[in-house]
Amino acid sequence: MSKIKNELKNDPLMPLRHSAEHVLHCVMQRLYPDLKKVMGPPIEDGFYFDFDLDYKISPDDLPKIEAEMQKMIDANLPIVKKEVSVEKAKKEFGDNWYKLENIKEIESRGEKVSTYVTGTPESPYYDVDLCAGPHVESTGRIKAFKLLSVAGAYYKGDEKNKMLQRIYGAAFDSKEALDAYLHNLEEAKKRDHRKLGKELDLFSIDEYVGPGLILWHPKLSVVREEIELYWRQEHRKRGYEYVYTPHVGLASLWQTSGHLDFFKEGMYPQMSMGSKSEDEQTTYYVKPMNCPFHVRIYKSRPRSYRELPIRWCELGSVYRYEESGVLHGMLRVRGFTQDDAHIICREDQFVEEVNSILDFGLEINRILGFDKLNVYLSMRDPENKSKYVGEERVWQLAEKTLEEILVKRNIEFKKDVGGAKFYGPAIDLKAVDVIGREWQGTTIQLDMNLPARFGMAYIDQNGKEVAPIMLHRTLLGSMERFVGTLIEHFGGAFPVWLAPVQVAIIPISEKNNEYAQKVSKILKQQNIRVEVDERDEMMQAKIRDAQMKKVPYMLVVGAKEESEGAVNVRLRDGKTLGMIKTEEFTQRVAQKYLTKGLDLW
Ligand SMILES: [Zn+2]
Ligand SMILES: [Zn+2]
Repeated sequence: MSKIKNELKNDPLMPLRHSAEHVLHCVMQRLYPDLKKVMGPPIEDGFYFDFDLDYKISPDDLPKIEAEMQKMIDANLPIVKKEVSVEKAKKEFGDNWYKLENIKEIESRGEKVSTYVTGTPESPYYDVDLCAGPHVESTGRIKAFKLLSVAGAYYKGDEKNKMLQRIYGAAFDSKEALDAYLHNLEEAKKRDHRKLGKELDLFSIDEYVGPGLILWHPKLSVVREEIELYWRQEHRKRGYEYVYTPHVGLASLWQTSGHLDFFKEGMYPQMSMGSKSEDEQTTYYVKPMNCPFHVRIYKSRPRSYRELPIRWCELGSVYRYEESGVLHGMLRVRGFTQDDAHIICREDQFVEEVNSILDFGLEINRILGFDKLNVYLSMRDPENKSKYVGEERVWQLAEKTLEEILVKRNIEFKKDVGGAKFYGPAIDLKAVDVIGREWQGTTIQLDMNLPARFGMAYIDQNGKEVAPIMLHRTLLGSMERFVGTLIEHFGGAFPVWLAPVQVAIIPISEKNNEYAQKVSKILKQQNIRVEVDERDEMMQAKIRDAQMKKVPYMLVVGAKEESEGAVNVRLRDGKTLGMIKTEEFTQRVAQKYLTKGLDLW
């Protein structure tokens, strides 16, 4: 959150976007004299404007408003800051209850009232608004804007308050930048995993099951199964061991771990079983994290320095009670499976372990189609040190060490000051998708909390008890969010190794069904996922259907193919490869599957 706010504050386009909002509210006031302005901040890529108006603005009204805005921009009116007294402000905005409320708040904070004046009293577009700015110096600086949508919004975001209207807009310093943004917006709509999830029969969220809980349909389960298989193989190769842990744990566990102190509002409420005997604990919580279980495995017996590093991984399903307002398809959910791991090591092993996780994270992201990653070093907020557990010396050392690792590897990164969790700094790799959006994925976190809380230790060379270093890490984040991201990244057209159906066989007529089945059998022997479309439909319709389902390969088979022991190959991108021997095609696809290539041929 802090970072987003900071980035907004530092965004050089913020004054322009804020000024575009002033132009919007000014022309709205002119077009709808009964309108009461409420507020309008700049946001990422644009702005919004909240207002109180009986007439309901519809998307059809937007072009008219835009035309009026353009006139005001072309008039290139000055936007000037003016400080006024509270009394004067109250008089100036006397007919607007919302602004008066705002002035009272400013007054109670003991701040000065500042206004921004657009135009001059005699110009038709004259406007004075309560505002802290900053703004561009004149309306002509707004080079490109577009109004995007109309929505409802409660006053101050509180559903007990009046429902207002809100207009969203985008604003940029060039037409090209705006066009690129609008293009990406269209792309994002087309790629929306919720839309594709329905069209391709991938997953659902069911009102009978509950919001934020994902039902994986067979097709998407194939994608997940392939990723998990790959994930397990890679972990074995890299010296990890798998563990399995329960979905619930006693309150005492979550008390010791600190979750009941620091994370309770994110947890599902307790389950109390009613006591069977006096001394039996009977209050359980569903797990929001896997960590305490792994710690208890570590604590199940004494550990020697020789055993370290320990690398335990688990595809662990956890549940967190997210507010319903933030739930979003598979991307923000209430139940998810983390691809979790904990590394418990000695201080002298720390750097090497972080480097190995970085290698692993880069590799798995690349294989899964994310070449571009934005790297962040999440650090403490130095202004707010009391928020964090752990010794000052350890924090400084940990942050410095993580930074050195990134520098040494020539990895470009940004510092996310204030972005660290309360228990330690972290390195985050955010995947950048085809339309430039950033997705939270790999994270490597140092934990200065749990080892102390649980009294974790190992016996060193001299027989002394020493506290180990603990790292939390996920590579994909969660299966739900990651696969949701993948759907959008690939627009539903998964690479061959992940595609739920890899090959669609399309017999030209009923007479060719038998040969189609024969080809299908050959492909299945190589573990290729294949479907034969024997429906009584025209061949063209079947090809179109397979293409809509984003099946990588379509094999059209008729008498000619049969006599040649071949198939006629079409790719889902529309390319036709013509007749290819069945055996050759099979080998090629089997190879593509093994190497996890992203291209089709
Ligand atoms: Zn303003
Ligand atoms: Zn953990």
